[in-house]
Amino acid sequence: MELWFSDEQTENVRLSLKVKRHFYTDKSDFQQIDFFETDEFGKFFTLDGKIMVTEKDEFIYHDMITHVALATNPNIRNVLVIGGGDGGSVRELSRYHHIEKIDMVEIDELVVRTCQKYLPITASKLVDPRVTLYFEDGLKFVQDKENLYDLIIVDSTDPVGPGEGLFTNDFYTNCFKALKKDGILVNQHESPFYNKQAHEMKRAHAKIKQLFPICKVFQAHIPTYESGHWLFGFASKKYDPIKDFQKETWEKFGLKTKYYNTDLHLGCFALPTYVRDMLNEVNE
Ligand code: SAM
Repeated sequence: MELWFSDEQTENVRLSLKVKRHFYTDKSDFQQIDFFETDEFGKFFTLDGKIMVTEKDEFIYHDMITHVALATNPNIRNVLVIGGGDGGSVRELSRYHHIEKIDMVEIDELVVRTCQKYLPITASKLVDPRVTLYFEDGLKFVQDKENLYDLIIVDSTDPVGPGEGLFTNDFYTNCFKALKKDGILVNQHESPFYNKQAHEMKRAHAKIKQLFPICKVFQAHIPTYESGHWLFGFASKKYDPIKDFQKETWEKFGLKTKYYNTDLHLGCFALPTYVRDMLNEVNE
């Protein structure tokens, strides 16, 4: 008998993966958590039925959500990750020896503990001594923080359920305050392709744009996310990711990355016309 998992990307579109085993299921205080094993994507987990991380394509998301910022300001030392319970963003950040402190605020401890058990490569650096884990709502965590971080990464779920607050004006305003005067905010910015996610990405862009003097969007191809065409937001108080790009400095770090590279750094900000048009609608 064949077993298939389907992620409902819209009311009319599903992505289905053939599954070898459905080996974990539980409901935390916040969401339904499931782990599966496949031939094509290795192990993966879902929250409330949405694919979060697969072993095969997680490198794309985690490279892009971290390295673009570090190659724009290679002096980043204090980082806050909001969400990111699988540990992939922290793993990439921990490769920079000069980063001094990484705070990670994940609302759901069970996500962290299950990823440590079932996705040990992704979660491998959550035990790095520079990392402090906080199990609380990211929305609350940033409320009283001022002038603390060089970089905030919003590695959240979609704006439904516990992730909803991480797409609000209040949250972005508090992130702005929590950042130092040259701080950078990178957020997962949904997909532009289907109306449902495109609507959310335009709303997020409109809010961030009002706060940050520099507000750009970059893209990557992530096969298991809606339509495969995924966006990230880059908002900053000082550094422009293209004009201030520190190519040579970043290359001297000597990191071997599987998706990110310094040609792609420039290329990922070159958006298709329909995406540019959507963002311009917001800008007008
Ligand atoms: N790469 C993923 C994606 O876009 O599908 C995101 C992965 S990561 C697992 C998202 C995490 O954000 C989840 O573990 C979830 O528990 C966490 N999260 C959701 N809402 C949150 C909140 N308000 N505060 C902190 N963490 C939150």
